[in-house]
Formats: sequence, structure tokens, C-alpha cells
Amino acid sequence: MNLRSQLRALLIRAAVLVRADEAALRIQCRRARGVVVAIHETPAVFEGQFRAQLEWASRHFAISSLNTFIQRLRAPGGDPESKPPVLFTFDDGRESNCRVAAPLLESFGGRGVFFIVPAFAECSPSKAFDFYRMRIDPHAAPSDENGKDWKPMTSAQIAELAARGHAIGNHTLTHSRLAGLPPEELEHEIADSARKLESWTNQPVESFAWTFGWDSVDASALRVIQRHHKFCFAPCAGTIDFDRGLPTIFWRREIEVNYPPAEYRFLYSGLADPWWSTRRWHLRKMLQLSNANQT
Ligand SMILES: [Zn+2]
Repeated sequence: MNLRSQLRALLIRAAVLVRADEAALRIQCRRARGVVVAIHETPAVFEGQFRAQLEWASRHFAISSLNTFIQRLRAPGGDPESKPPVLFTFDDGRESNCRVAAPLLESFGGRGVFFIVPAFAECSPSKAFDFYRMRIDPHAAPSDENGKDWKPMTSAQIAELAARGHAIGNHTLTHSRLAGLPPEELEHEIADSARKLESWTNQPVESFAWTFGWDSVDASALRVIQRHHKFCFAPCAGTIDFDRGLPTIFWRREIEVNYPPAEYRFLYSGLADPWWSTRRWHLRKMLQLSNANQT
């Protein structure tokens, strides 16, 4: 465990000890702030842990779909006693997201947003692990083929998810880092990817989530994303304020399904969000620059 992980574990233990996470969660719920969760692997071995996390989350939040989340944003106010919504999103398009996560979410009345990489979904079984190692998880070792959750969903499974009311989002054509790409490659990675997903689902692809870290995007990429998508999701934590209408960027807290209860409760409470405030500020500035260049 490195120093940063040790510090994080210590902070979580201290917050749980003085019940700061419970107090922060109560304040957040009272302010009607919505939360978007980002998840990656959901293998069957974590199904019980994910169910327990969803049971806990459903006591504090309304587990929603993209549509109900957006409806709440468009019509703020309403019943002050009602729980704030939480939206679950899944990056990269693993088969386990379709087999394990989607039915579980459905059993709680929710629907997810699945951010798909079309070139990964089109990989033949013999090529998919190499694609995963090269494009999606460069830290994976050749020996991880038996341990990691790397198998992609097929285009048929993606269409089936869309037909069951889940939202299919765009995660670039080849899981590309967008910052610094020339205009024609941005169009290829963003617009061609959206067109391919739309041809599989027969539905518009409204949501986009960029890959890798919070800073793997630049103003030019944001401009192309905004041109082709209504909603842009960031790998950067924060809440969605329902009094301010539709946000230009949807902040997401990464809360994986195998996190222990103390860790996920801490993250849902928002106590880790201040750590991300400078990054949110940089992204807002970048967005202003992108909009200024558009006019
Ligand atoms: Zn990804």
C-alpha cells in the first residue's frame, strides 16, 4: 500500500469513527444533490457485494435511470422529502456489465448508462484480451487473462440493453486518449463511434464519457463531444446540483462494486469531493474556452 492509499484508508477510518460520513450524507440529501457513480468491472464473484451496496444506496437515494435523472434536473423542486437520485454508469462495455450489473440494477427499479467502446465490442474472442491490454487497461499483465474481468459485450447484447431501457453511451471508438488529437481523429473517435452505436441500438446516443483520467481531454475534444452529444460525463468526482438545471459536465464518483462498506459510504457522502475541486475548476475553464472558440 503506498502513502496515498494509506492516507485515504486513515481518512476513511477517522470519518467513520466520528460519523462524519453520516452527517455529510444527511446534508447532501437535504440539499437534493444528485450523484452519478462510475463503475468498471462487475464480475459474478462481486454480485453479492454490489447487491449490498445497492441495498444501502436505495435507503438514501432514488436509484434512477438517465431519463428520470434528467427529468429531475429539468423540473427541480418537487417533494422536498423525496430522496435525491443516483445514476449508475459503467465504462468500457464489459460482458459482466450486461450479465451481472444490468439485471441487479433492474431488480432495484433502476437502469444504467453503459459507455461502450465499439472497436472492443467488435473484437473476436481471440483478439479481445490483446485489445483490452493495449487500449483499456495498460497495467494488465499477460497473466491477467484468467483473473481480470476483460471480456467485451457484443453488439447484440448492447442492443438488448438498450431495448430493456438502459442508456448506451459513447466511450470513443477505440478507447482513445482525446487530448492533443487532430480534428479528423477527434471526429473519427467521437462521431463515427456514436454513429456505429446508433446503428446497433436504433436509438440516439446522447451521452459521452471520455477515457482515462480527468485531464485526458482538451478544449478541442470537448467541442466535438458537445457537437455530437447532449450529456458529457467526466472521470472527476462531484455532485449534480438540481437547482442549476442541466449541467454542462456530469461529475462522477468512482465507486467500484467491490469496495467495502466503510469506503463506499465515505465516497457516497461526498467527503472526498473537495479533493477534486481544483480539477473541476480546470475542466470548467476548459469548457469555457471550448464554448468561446465555438462562437
Ligand atoms: Zn474506459
